[in-house]
Amino acid sequence: MRPIAFSKSGKFWRGNLHTHSNCSDGLLSPDGLCQRYKDEGYNFLVISDHFVGLYNYPVTEPSDFYDPEFITILGAELHSGSTENGEIWHILAVGLPKDFLPTNSPNFVPTDNQETGPEIAKRCVEAGAFVTIAHPQWSGLTLADARSIKAAHAVEVYNHGCAVSTDRPDGFHTLDLLLAEGRKLNLVATDDAHFSDPDYFGGWVMVKSNGNSPDAILKSLKEGAFYSSQGPDLVDIEIETSSVEVHSTPVSTVIIQGQGSAYVVQHGQSLVSTQLSLERLKKSPWLRVTIIDHNGKRAWSNPIWRHQFQAESEA
Ligand SMILES: [Zn+2]
Ligand SMILES: [Zn+2]
Repeated sequence: MRPIAFSKSGKFWRGNLHTHSNCSDGLLSPDGLCQRYKDEGYNFLVISDHFVGLYNYPVTEPSDFYDPEFITILGAELHSGSTENGEIWHILAVGLPKDFLPTNSPNFVPTDNQETGPEIAKRCVEAGAFVTIAHPQWSGLTLADARSIKAAHAVEVYNHGCAVSTDRPDGFHTLDLLLAEGRKLNLVATDDAHFSDPDYFGGWVMVKSNGNSPDAILKSLKEGAFYSSQGPDLVDIEIETSSVEVHSTPVSTVIIQGQGSAYVVQHGQSLVSTQLSLERLKKSPWLRVTIIDHNGKRAWSNPIWRHQFQAESEA
């Protein structure tokens, strides 16, 4: 069995799902952001400005930037309702309509008479968006907070801006606990770039699709046909009942993680084709693949559920 990111036809398109322009608190114009990401070799960008009254509830798109090889997908970072620590929710939505109905969020302070986090996440999904629980560690989210966002497709497991400026980049703990409860969530790495700090080009998704169009990319995101990276590339993953083979650009560590403390690891010099036994993970309902290169840069597969590969190899 091969996860959909590798079995699906098409090619990989590199994109950043989380960016702020000067339509909210970012430094660069929407067109300027597109130019920087295009020049860096990206294929698409989501300008996810803060959807609050302070910025007139922006769903930002470039005004004058056009490049046939580089697209933008409409989106926003939504803020409404309080998390358990009394702060406002941050929810990332990719694929929002331009006229997405404003919520009642004048600023970043939670108030009465506004949608809860779960409610606004649900409304985004109903409007067609791919929804991510943003930066759990930075926000100080509890498991109950994360669990409440029933509509989410993914957890933001690496946020480059939070890494660079607060050293709180992580979402894996939250993700793995939700996976242990059976939640079928994927994972994304993003920049959350504002360009006021060196918070760009540090985390991205590689999305498999036949074409680079907003509809095709959004469909693949919802299908889970992607992986996330800070540098190395996952080329292919093949899973049998008792082993996994990971093909990648040269890395020094390949890890398969499972539920609880379960893992298996291979260390080496320039690993490009690595076979690992699943013996120690045979009780885990899901697996994830992590590769780490000699600079410490990582790439991560989405979770792979046991029923997907066991059913296939038994058939
Ligand atoms: Zn945020
Ligand atoms: Zn943000």
